[in-house]
Amino acid sequence: MATGKINVSVDNIFPLIKKFLYSDHEIFLRELISNATDATLKMKHLTTIGEAKVEYGNPIIEVKADKEGKKLHIIDQGLGMTEEEVKKYINEVAFSGAEEFLNKYEDTAKDSGIIGHFGLGFYSAFMVAHKVEIITKSFKDEPAVHWSCDGSPEFIMEPADKETRGTEIILHIADDSTEFLEDNRIKELLSKYNKFMPIPIKFGMKTETLPKPEGAKEEDPAPTKEVDNIINNPNPAWTKQPADLEAKDYQEFYRELYPMQFEEPLFNIHLNVDYPFNLTGILYFPKLTNDLNVQKDKIQLYQNQVFVTDNVEGIVPEFLTMLRGVIDSPDIPLNVSRSYLQADGAVKKISSYITRKVADKLNSLFKNNREDFEAKWNDIKIVIEYGMLSEDKFFDKADKFALYPTVDGSYFTFEELQEKIKDTQTDKDGKTVILYASDKEAQHSYIETAKAKGYEILLLDSPIIGHLMQKLEGSKENISFARVDADHIDKLIQKEETQISKLSDDEKETLKKELEEAITDKSFTVQLEAMDSDSSPFTITEPEFMRRMKEMQQTGGGGGMFGMGAMPEMYNLIVNTNHPLVSEFLNTKTAKKKERLINQSLDLAKLSKGLLKGKALTEFIKRSYEMVK
Ligand code: ADP
Ligand code: MG
Repeated sequence: MATGKINVSVDNIFPLIKKFLYSDHEIFLRELISNATDATLKMKHLTTIGEAKVEYGNPIIEVKADKEGKKLHIIDQGLGMTEEEVKKYINEVAFSGAEEFLNKYEDTAKDSGIIGHFGLGFYSAFMVAHKVEIITKSFKDEPAVHWSCDGSPEFIMEPADKETRGTEIILHIADDSTEFLEDNRIKELLSKYNKFMPIPIKFGMKTETLPKPEGAKEEDPAPTKEVDNIINNPNPAWTKQPADLEAKDYQEFYRELYPMQFEEPLFNIHLNVDYPFNLTGILYFPKLTNDLNVQKDKIQLYQNQVFVTDNVEGIVPEFLTMLRGVIDSPDIPLNVSRSYLQADGAVKKISSYITRKVADKLNSLFKNNREDFEAKWNDIKIVIEYGMLSEDKFFDKADKFALYPTVDGSYFTFEELQEKIKDTQTDKDGKTVILYASDKEAQHSYIETAKAKGYEILLLDSPIIGHLMQKLEGSKENISFARVDADHIDKLIQKEETQISKLSDDEKETLKKELEEAITDKSFTVQLEAMDSDSSPFTITEPEFMRRMKEMQQTGGGGGMFGMGAMPEMYNLIVNTNHPLVSEFLNTKTAKKKERLINQSLDLAKLSKGLLKGKALTEFIKRSYEMVK
């Protein structure tokens, strides 16, 4: 075995940069504006600490497109560079940075975290330009420098006649990149990456309307003036202190972030931490429906006010990716590669910090204004339920404020609910039974039956609730969930008195046989039960376990449990042997009449469970008209 150092010749650098270094060519502008911003901020710092005895003024950064000359200019009024500095930062560092890049190259993909880390941001200009010029004058009293390079390793450096402080970068746009000379494309990039950068960025001019002079006539047009078109907001809300912001500031910022979003957010969470990592941001809870489809307005990730990505997977726990807003952290590298992120300790801490902040905010909303929290519950529950499912730490906190609404519009916490029903709703093993419905309309008759007995019925209708019930049953003692149609209500909940059947054992045997003969549909299992005579003669139920598994398969998770394929439809037909109609089955002499009676009753039960459809429904209606005629 031999080890050694690969000697990379400089000739290889430019083709490499162009091909592999950057996944996205468009980021060159972000990099150059970031450098211009850095140069300006450095100037500001040096003047504030008194190290530079020059006027800081009101510097801006200008982007200028020269379509005819095929040139793009990025001009700043920052600290500039002396000849020595150009040599050091532009000529030399890039090569050492390149060395680092190549060391890393083996295990990092195209979109790995290179720019900014290795002093190669500047060289991203060569992705779109065949020649790059730098004209720069330092704030120090030294002559201006003109550097140019046509993409080969040789560069030219000569004196320049620039009088003002700062740097101008000129890109001679390559033929395959002329899109970057188009106004609209540049605007698009500026608004994507630079919308909230801290130094004003000018792109073109715009017309501003001035107030009319005194004494002007009605019909006189208002005077106008050409002014710099500044495309960014250098002081976005998240960089300010929460104490300095009002509710309307948060709303306005939401509008700024998502101009196409017309619905107001429900509430926001201002993030602000500087130890053990640095992070600021504002998260918004939008109104969410039960539709779990990915939305397009996502949380945006910034690094020092530079847009990085709106793919925050790995930084924000998955259940919170449904929120909107901004996260800004200098501790998150500009170019975010997934594998890097997952391994990064700071990023992990960020994720759990955000989870904690969100839980605390929800808890305080719940505590301070429960009524309002209840009103918002329907719009936020999906995030909370998802969080409770996926993050144990969040579960522990949310368990105290997660709400369980009833079909009548009351809201309980889990503890309140348990307290309310623990003595009245128990099954034969003494477990507390939490009754619920998922659809008030479809399960109406079952809800009414359960209500008549004085039971609490929850309305749980989010698509992932099955998974959450499963989790609650596993983590709480002695409780189980049952949908109102999971079994006959008197079997779901233990009643004091047991009913005595009016039928003899022989009669029951005959009845069962006759029912099974008359009912040809094999998805029904006939069960005879002695119940109140005013309970329905037939009730169709669907065992909780099977139904829930089936639903959970549809929303992911819990799948695979039964191997492949859809699970079969399975229903129980509970027959109340104490109901007069059931006695009539037995007493009916002709077989044909008996069968008709049974099937008409079964259809009624199906109708009440929403199972009567299509041809069967048409025939049922036809038959019923015949009967009432
Ligand atoms: P990084 O920004 O990660 O340091 P770059 O390759 O983007 O790496 O830039 C290299 C260096 O060149 C910068 O650190 C800075 O010292 C210098 N530089 C680049 N652009 C400017 C500019 N507009 N004004 C002053 N210095 C600049
Ligand atoms: Mg840079």
